[in-house]
Amino acid sequence: MSDNTTDKTTTRRNFLRTTMLSAAALPAAGALLQSRPAAAGGMDRLSEDDDAARALGYVHDVADVDTDRWSNYEEGQLCSNCQLIGGDADEQWRPCDIFPNKLVNNDGWCSAWVPKS
Ligand code: SF4
Repeated sequence: MSDNTTDKTTTRRNFLRTTMLSAAALPAAGALLQSRPAAAGGMDRLSEDDDAARALGYVHDVADVDTDRWSNYEEGQLCSNCQLIGGDADEQWRPCDIFPNKLVNNDGWCSAWVPKS
């Protein structure tokens, strides 16, 4: 086998190895993309199914408040006008003092709502 043939064989082998490794990595990359934070800052959006969220009746959309259960809810109350929300008012998903390291929806609500002072 000449040096030239050996080079071609090595190149082909390297190409196949790289291609197979890349293909094997695709599912892992997809899983990472699905679990990445929904917003900047490394925080995930709060799930309505989170134990703390359920305990406080948090919903992403104030229209979904269970008013039978949460009689303290009053029309006009929103995460966006709650004293406990932080972050940038232009962002739809923002940090909240009640749910550390999670983002709540501007249009959401929970029973810990406090009017902005
Ligand atoms: Fe929204 Fe305020 Fe409840 Fe946080 S404490 S989830 S900002 S209503």
